[in-house]
Amino acid sequence: MKNRMLVSACLLGINCKYNNENNKNDILLNKLSQLNPEVIIPVCPEQLGGLPTPRTPVEIVSGTGLDVLDSRGIVRSETGIDVSEMFRKGAIEVLKIAKFTNCNCALLKDKSPSCGVNLVYDGTFNHQVKPGSGVCASLLKKNGIKIFSETDVLD
Ligand code: SF4
Repeated sequence: MKNRMLVSACLLGINCKYNNENNKNDILLNKLSQLNPEVIIPVCPEQLGGLPTPRTPVEIVSGTGLDVLDSRGIVRSETGIDVSEMFRKGAIEVLKIAKFTNCNCALLKDKSPSCGVNLVYDGTFNHQVKPGSGVCASLLKKNGIKIFSETDVLD
């Protein structure tokens, strides 16, 4: 069976990052075309959660991605605004898209508080990372969707 794949939209060149830019990487796109999935669905959970672009950078400041889903963790902006509810909403919307389009896997941007697969920023806003997954990545994984990051593909 061929893969049906969600992809973090910023990896595909969509300007949905907090600074209105993207994370397009031609080597990654080349690898992606070699993987030759049956379908690629671009998603940005932060936009789907209702956050604007551009937006203030945010990090998971308390708990894990799963904790945020269970309302036990907090995602906050650098300026102190709690955006946990928008992160939960964005993750749920992405899961709906995954189910509607029958996606079985997701290629997600590592280190993001939404999309991070293996690493997330550590909540200090000092460009430091720690092991863990973002809010949307955690929800997809919990629902049986195989998640992997751009570094997993490029290694
Ligand atoms: Fe990219 Fe995900 Fe951040 Fe959207 S939420 S900009 S798709 S890493």
